[in-house]
Amino acid sequence: MNTPARSPERIVNTNPATGEVLSEHACAAAANVQDAVARARAAQPAWSRLGIAGRVRVLRRFQQLLLEQRSEVAACVTAESGKPVVESLVSEVIVTLDAARFCTENVYRVMREEDVRHANIVMKTKRGRILHEPVGVLGIISPWNYPLSIPATETLAALVTGNAVVLKPSELTPLSALYLARLLHEAGVPQDIFQVVLGFGGTGSALIESGIDKLVFTGSVETGKRVAEAAARRLVPVVLELGGKDPMLVLDDADVDIASSAAVWGALMNAGQTCLSVERCYVHRNLYERFVSECARKIGQLKVGNGANAETDIGPLISLRQLEAVEAQIEEAVAAGAIAVTGGKRLPQLGPNFFAPTLLVNVNHRMSLMQKETFGPVLPIMAFDSDDEAIALANDSDFGLSASIWTRNARRGDALARRVNAGTVMVNDVITCFAVAEAPHGGIKASGLGRTHGLFGMREMVRTKYVASDLLPSIKKVWWYGYGEQLGHQMSAFVGLLFGNSLVARAKGAAISFPSLWRKRL
Ligand code: NDP
Repeated sequence: MNTPARSPERIVNTNPATGEVLSEHACAAAANVQDAVARARAAQPAWSRLGIAGRVRVLRRFQQLLLEQRSEVAACVTAESGKPVVESLVSEVIVTLDAARFCTENVYRVMREEDVRHANIVMKTKRGRILHEPVGVLGIISPWNYPLSIPATETLAALVTGNAVVLKPSELTPLSALYLARLLHEAGVPQDIFQVVLGFGGTGSALIESGIDKLVFTGSVETGKRVAEAAARRLVPVVLELGGKDPMLVLDDADVDIASSAAVWGALMNAGQTCLSVERCYVHRNLYERFVSECARKIGQLKVGNGANAETDIGPLISLRQLEAVEAQIEEAVAAGAIAVTGGKRLPQLGPNFFAPTLLVNVNHRMSLMQKETFGPVLPIMAFDSDDEAIALANDSDFGLSASIWTRNARRGDALARRVNAGTVMVNDVITCFAVAEAPHGGIKASGLGRTHGLFGMREMVRTKYVASDLLPSIKKVWWYGYGEQLGHQMSAFVGLLFGNSLVARAKGAAISFPSLWRKRL
């Protein structure tokens, strides 16, 4: 199997399990991207005017179409990403369906106008309202690891709130994005309101330069920094969903059977290519030996192969490049003393992109394996002696996406969750926060800025406008021109009226300041 050469003009999309060429596409040049954004801008006002009810109807049709075509969609995702079909259904289709449900149920709440109560006595002469308006044209740049659910959840939140979207998916997974477009258009989203521009990083850069109103970027920290710099030059607001190095803390009272199953699944699902993967596992020393041997036993039962086979647990890595990066991290760790209890090697008999699920012990924080994102089927385990040490290890990271804590004591888990520096902490579960449509998703530190999913994710898609209507429009304001010594005296008294500490002080302030109402103004 040959890895097709990267051409700046064409994308050759292959199945990472078999090397089969799935599709070829011309890359969008900068001018194409600009055209797409201009068309989106022209179309967006009508989409916004369609109103919430109209857009909700369209999203419900989309939901129905996706439901009906779920097997074909899952097969498409599996073919180009390599993940097992079950994962395509669970982490891509269901997540998207549930996002559609959440958006249609909550868009009224997010966009509802709010009356603003003015406390200041003078400002009570105005009616204040907060409006939530679509930001306009949203650019979305998405990665290959969740080629449907990541762009879909962001797109649905943007569309339902009245925005137009131009999506640049990863060049490794264009078909899932095109399938998403097909379903949205069939459901009634106008062609110009949702557009996909295909290409490499250059197409993504062109999108940032094309006059979009906001960018939602999901990808690596390295690219995220470049993207943020480019966006800053144009003052384009950004949401950045970047990498993770998520810790799993197994406390001394944890159920070893449950926690070891969670560690194996959490580290290895999607071949470890999940931003929320368990990338560092810390286990209390009392459980350590048993935990490691349970993990090794369970990993030994996993079947690696083509994700299209129903029996497969772990598919290939997305590309040889990704595999080499994972392998280099493992080799460096092993050279520094890490021990591979299972795996640690390629599986060339299955194809060039397959890597054996790997359990590593004797690891430490000096290894890049415990510092940098691995994004491969690797579970490194370290022992700890106290809760304080576990928290210190968990927080000893540049990343802060999510974390999990395993304990039979819910209160203890909750208390420790508050001490972990991360966007999400799960007690007795891993990764599934991504599938909770209500849960805001995003990180702190190098894991990014802003949120997707949930109400916070939808609020990223609207901008806030304050509208104040004066209730006494025929009266000139007291503070307008016509200043003088007397007004200074009256305004000083007015400060006393607003903020005086006693009723007497306030009454005095009122008595002195009220005559200013009859003052002659310019
Ligand atoms: P990359 O950062 O390599 O790419 C992300 C996207 O950005 C791709 O579409 C890529 O295009 C595009 N891109 C590359 N260079 C530029 C540029 N200069 N300007 C604009 N766009 C550009 O990430 P991967 O696709 O490899 O995805 C894996 C990463 O995504 C991991 O680090 C993972 O942790 C992170 N991730 C984070 C999630 C979160 O929610 N926090 C969720 C899922 C993944 P192309 O592919 O064509 O190069």
